[in-house]
Amino acid sequence: MKKILLSLLFNNLLFLNAQSFDLIPLGVYGGIQENNLSAYLIGEKGENKFLCLDAGTLKAGIDKAIEKGTFSTDAETVLKDYIKGYFISHGHLDHLAGMVINSPEDSKKNIYSTPETAEVLKQRYFTQDAWINFANEGTPPILGKYTYKKHGNTTSFPIEATAMSARIFPLSHGNPYKSSAILVTNTQKESVLYLGDTGADRNEKSSALKNLWRQVAPLVKNKSLKAILIEVSFENERPENALFGHLTPQLLNEEFSILAQLSDARDLRNLKIIITHLKPGDNRIEIIKKQLMENNPMKVQIIFPEQGQKIQL
Ligand SMILES: [Zn+2]
Ligand SMILES: [Zn+2]
Repeated sequence: MKKILLSLLFNNLLFLNAQSFDLIPLGVYGGIQENNLSAYLIGEKGENKFLCLDAGTLKAGIDKAIEKGTFSTDAETVLKDYIKGYFISHGHLDHLAGMVINSPEDSKKNIYSTPETAEVLKQRYFTQDAWINFANEGTPPILGKYTYKKHGNTTSFPIEATAMSARIFPLSHGNPYKSSAILVTNTQKESVLYLGDTGADRNEKSSALKNLWRQVAPLVKNKSLKAILIEVSFENERPENALFGHLTPQLLNEEFSILAQLSDARDLRNLKIIITHLKPGDNRIEIIKKQLMENNPMKVQIIFPEQGQKIQL
């Protein structure tokens, strides 16, 4: 009996260890398709308590997820109850349009970001002339549905109404323009790293990514980092002076080689890498996918997310 119990416990632990997070992409592209732009729900497995990582597209993504059976409730419940807060990586429209458009129907929640991004929201979007000020600072009348939570200093803070915590890191996205990344951590100290738009350090003349890699290298080493969501916007052939603060497959490999130096190449093997922000145009997406799959020196596990399709991490 004891043996059976022990084995049950062990299997449960293994199971827990195998799947810790639900990740539901609501939008996966970096442009053009306004119904499928960067937005990813991350939450502890089975809890339906999500932080929305960027919010380029909300409603169309929630509808797609319901259509695919990812959610067995209505869109209003997902928007109002399941999404507990937003992380907005930077002020570009393709990362926040869904939040702004859906704000009249939304419930009260927090917007987590750097102080710079909160400033863009405050001065450019939640104003009286561009939209209505649904947030808690800025142009009157202030409706106060959203509360800005500004975190720019990489220290840990709680994601309210969930058991998760997070840290925000700066990124360079067409120097000197800043974007940011967020490391979301559960109570078991397992994490998922999401990067907003970013260029490579060499191209950006920045050390933002190296600093980030230095912070997450210990988590790669001890296998507690369950996945990295990172952008690849353009194909290798695109000239480096026309990347506008984005990555190519080649530049992604360059960055991973730096992460490998800070941890160990063996630790990167099979690490789940979820590719975000592919920019549609001609057959660019097919080319980028081919280049990523054919030249994968670190042997990471490359995943192309699909709108509405749950990924378990
Ligand atoms: Zn973008
Ligand atoms: Zn951007």
